[in-house]
Amino acid sequence: MNAISNAALSTPLLTPFLVERNKKHFIDGRWVGSASGECIDTFNPATGGLLATLARGRQEDVDRAVRVARQAFEGPWRRFTPGQRQRLIMRFAELFDKHFDELTLLESLDMGAPLHTRLRPGKAALVQTILYYAAQARNIQGETPHNSLPGQVTTMILKAPVGVVGAIIPWNGPLFAQMHVLGPVLATGCTAIIKPAEDASLTVLRTAELLVEAGLPPGVVNVVTGIGAEAGAALAAHPDVNRIAFTGSTGVGREIIKASAGNMKRLQLELGGKSPDIVFADADLDKAVPGVAMGVYGNSGQICFAGTRVFVQRSIQAEFLERMSAFGNTLKVGDPLALETDLGPLITQRQLDRVLGYVEQGKQEGAALVSGGRRLGGDLANGYFLEPTLFGNVSNQMTVAQEEIFGPVASVIPFDTADEALALANATPYGLASGVWSANVNTVMKMVHGIQAGTVWVNCYGMVDPAVGFGGYKESGYGWKGGAAQIDGYLYQKAAYINVTA
Ligand code: NAP
Ligand code: MG
Repeated sequence: MNAISNAALSTPLLTPFLVERNKKHFIDGRWVGSASGECIDTFNPATGGLLATLARGRQEDVDRAVRVARQAFEGPWRRFTPGQRQRLIMRFAELFDKHFDELTLLESLDMGAPLHTRLRPGKAALVQTILYYAAQARNIQGETPHNSLPGQVTTMILKAPVGVVGAIIPWNGPLFAQMHVLGPVLATGCTAIIKPAEDASLTVLRTAELLVEAGLPPGVVNVVTGIGAEAGAALAAHPDVNRIAFTGSTGVGREIIKASAGNMKRLQLELGGKSPDIVFADADLDKAVPGVAMGVYGNSGQICFAGTRVFVQRSIQAEFLERMSAFGNTLKVGDPLALETDLGPLITQRQLDRVLGYVEQGKQEGAALVSGGRRLGGDLANGYFLEPTLFGNVSNQMTVAQEEIFGPVASVIPFDTADEALALANATPYGLASGVWSANVNTVMKMVHGIQAGTVWVNCYGMVDPAVGFGGYKESGYGWKGGAAQIDGYLYQKAAYINVTA
């Protein structure tokens, strides 16, 4: 391990967690090893050095966690009133706030996001997200529709928590991703087993511990670490899990659908994207250039809604490419713990190789490499750092314009008319998000209505509010993360017909 992580690991903030919790799942409020005793190593992507060793969960560990979660669901947690659940979520928000520096340092070491320019500035949004779900705990209501039945029949629609939820989340932002499961689980009175990504599990483990400290009964939230095809697959197929909340790739999403068929689990699938970001000639380029660039390069491109297909009206393509390339060159790529760093490393060597493979393929298929495209060396040679990369003159059929790259690679595709931009934007199996930059309200409204995607950002990119929510069209999945629709997904609905004859 080199100097970057050694300094951070020796801080008193992390030592207790990393040393004492090593090699353990968090089940029933306690730290327990795998039934098999097997472990997997997890690394710091900025240095390539070993960060921690995780328990390698398999069927037996998942069975154990599901048993515990079922007991907790039937046990004291059942008797928590909505007001008590709300109070608990608020206490958790306070603890989360108090431990925020520790959690973000851990997240930065684990998955490489810049500490000072990305993770720490996210504090208000994260705490607000937790508080949003605290309010949802008091907002669960049934209905009493008036019916037209003969006699004195009263009809009610009741709501009840679905039960045990399995959550499978990716590595690109676990601190945030877990909140969109923890929130609805705690608000509705469900219980959960979380399987974090093998490449970034640490903040999820630490958060589960904080929840118990906040007063959550043991067993309500459990974390089983391990490999997707083992622990994740066992959770998705488990006959006593009622719902799976999955965030990850479209390919694995298909596997989850198959695995869940056995007991007809409810599913929420938040999957991949290849989002269009459309810049019209009348856009304010002082805002559009940094907005589009950070929409692709933020988190080093490892964001599901990254606006990687940048459609630019032909008359401004040359100017746009020049300005976006200049902006990319101002971004500081490096040590995620350094104050001035804008972009950290990619998560693994494997991911770096994959992204570099796409850069090569883009060149071979005739896209013009305007800037970037190289791995960084020198002090950063042991980490997985890549320059922000910009392709110009891309056509929508090229591989770089069709496949999700999940790295800092933007493809600029020229267009002439709004109709053409719309047709090109929608020519993808994905439909997660999109952006439009224009000063003309007619153009904006045409795009807002015409784009087939779960989110349209206009003259901005990447804002998400839990009250509004987030979800996909087409192969970007189904289910909605946030808002009333999400809470409904964690509730069974039951009709009651009460025939009073007296
Ligand atoms: P991934 O390979 O699909 O993995 C996601 C999670 O699923 C990980 O915990 C993984 O475990 C687990 N997994 C893998 N194979 C599994 C299987 N057969 N059964 C059950 N679980 C399995 O995705 P990723 O590469 O980590 O993350 C990037 C992807 O996530 C991108 O496609 C991105 O667009 C998407 N994403 C979507 C959203 C959204 O809200 N729509 C948000 C963030 C990311 P291991 O880590 O151990 O393999
Ligand atoms: Mg890691």
